[in-house]
Amino acid sequence: MKDLWRLLRLFRPYAGWIALGILLSLATLIANIALMAVSGWFVASMAIAGTAGVSMNYFTPAAIIRACAIVRTGGRYGERLVTHEATLRLLSGLRVWLYEHLEPLAPSGLQRYRSGDLLSRIRADIDTLDNFYLRVLAPTVTAVLGGLACGLFLLADDSRLALILAAFLVLAGIGLPWLVRILGDASGRRVVSLKSDVRAATVDGVQGLAELQAYGAAGAQAAKIAGLSRQLAREQQRLSGITGLSQGALAMSANLAMWLIVWTAIPLVRDGAIAPPELAMLALYTLAAFEAVMPLPAAFQALGETQAAARRILEIADAESQVKEPKNPAALPQGFGITLTGVHFTYPEADRPALAGIDLDFPEGKKVALIGPTGSGKTTLVNLLLRFWAPERGHITLGGDDIAKLRGEDVRRCIAVVSQHTHLFTGTIRDNLRLAKPEASQDELEQACRAAELHDFILAQPDGYETQVGEAGLALSGGQARRLTTARALLKDAPILVLDEPTEGLDNPTAKALMRTLATLMTERSVLLVTHRAEGLADMDEILVLERGRITARGDHRHLLDSLPAYRVPN
Ligand code: ADP
Ligand code: MG
Repeated sequence: MKDLWRLLRLFRPYAGWIALGILLSLATLIANIALMAVSGWFVASMAIAGTAGVSMNYFTPAAIIRACAIVRTGGRYGERLVTHEATLRLLSGLRVWLYEHLEPLAPSGLQRYRSGDLLSRIRADIDTLDNFYLRVLAPTVTAVLGGLACGLFLLADDSRLALILAAFLVLAGIGLPWLVRILGDASGRRVVSLKSDVRAATVDGVQGLAELQAYGAAGAQAAKIAGLSRQLAREQQRLSGITGLSQGALAMSANLAMWLIVWTAIPLVRDGAIAPPELAMLALYTLAAFEAVMPLPAAFQALGETQAAARRILEIADAESQVKEPKNPAALPQGFGITLTGVHFTYPEADRPALAGIDLDFPEGKKVALIGPTGSGKTTLVNLLLRFWAPERGHITLGGDDIAKLRGEDVRRCIAVVSQHTHLFTGTIRDNLRLAKPEASQDELEQACRAAELHDFILAQPDGYETQVGEAGLALSGGQARRLTTARALLKDAPILVLDEPTEGLDNPTAKALMRTLATLMTERSVLLVTHRAEGLADMDEILVLERGRITARGDHRHLLDSLPAYRVPN
């Protein structure tokens, strides 16, 4: 329940829309009950007047009936309009809210989640949450207020009649939903987690299709998805069975209540306590009153799903990034020299440290290379510099200030990265470039692409800079994609350039050509080149050899060639 209260607090900005929707649905409900009751009374009165041969005023009741019908129809229309408007506002508000919580978590706080699972939380769980208003909150409030009004109205007539109606309304509105909830709770929970599993398995299956086929595992993945889907269908079938049962039980209690009320009212008519036409009115009134509680079993059933979704969403909102942003961030320092002193770092759940006591001085304008075998901690060091992760011990300074005192965003503004992982967004080449500098002019874009030696390739495309790339467009080759990231890094024009295995995965000639391009960019900047290739090492001011999280040798190219036999390996 605590989760739902927190959810309600998120709904606060939309309280006006929410209340208006509930008000309209209450008006519709009451208009419908009044319509049924007055019609019953009217038809019975007319029949009695007819047989007795007396005339009666039928203008007033006819007008009331018409008014009720208009309010009911208009109310229903308005209610749909308003509740949907409220839902859409809620949904977009919740998405933005979730995204705002996700963003500072990346990447350290998100590594526990699979991408399919995250997608599912952003899309499906948020969608489920809109049920909370449409299917849970609005019907429940309407039912409680409407039911109370119905009971009070009968109380004016006769307390026994009011008691019977109240008892059956409580039975159908609370007892039945409660039963449905008990029967469907476990299934509801399983449906939410199964839906997420199916989505995650499907996303994995599509994204990893090439791998799955290469290893002949596509069939197994398909079987896994089919198995999960079958389980999901079974749970949904169970939920549908429970829904059907509850609807039958609801109709039965409405009819039972009607018969009991008529049966109790007959002696009252005989005694003259109530007029004969009121009997027909009571019967229809009772039946119509149950409309108030009709959505409640479904509401309680949705409650299970909603709670599970709320918990999953709030779990992300509560997740903490491993990197703590400072409360009062310091201003960016003037210089851009970097030092690391005694830096230790271990990934969560890893059994050995990725970095174990790194001391490093990286003065402004210097070119430093970091070499070492795969898994030695090179990328980890880059991630610590970028403040994607924070060291568990030791300090990193930028321009003499501890970067823990700076905002991550500010630190990253000083560093441009070209790495082995390039994500191209679905969009044009121009969009992908502008990521680094949204206000960049066409001239600036072209200048960066010329320097990255990508301009001619872009011009050769029919749409030039408007060429679609990424998932929905042109797939760039590894080298071209790397050149695009290089152009991006140039546009960013940061004083520190970090190249994390920029030629990884490229064939030799492509790699050599790219390194030549990069070398021209290294002038006038501090450069940290992470590599396991020999190219460019001779031009570096200092080379650090990293092994299992420790710096095991350092010096310039010549010095290492002379002193360290193992150093020849990259050649
Ligand atoms: P390199 O870039 O030198 O190849 P990394 O810095 O990527 O090495 O990795 C150093 C060590 O940390 C490796 O043992 C690797 O398995 C581990 N590691 C890297 N990234 C993560 C992560 N996100 N979570 C847990 N362990 C990681
Ligand atoms: Mg790496």
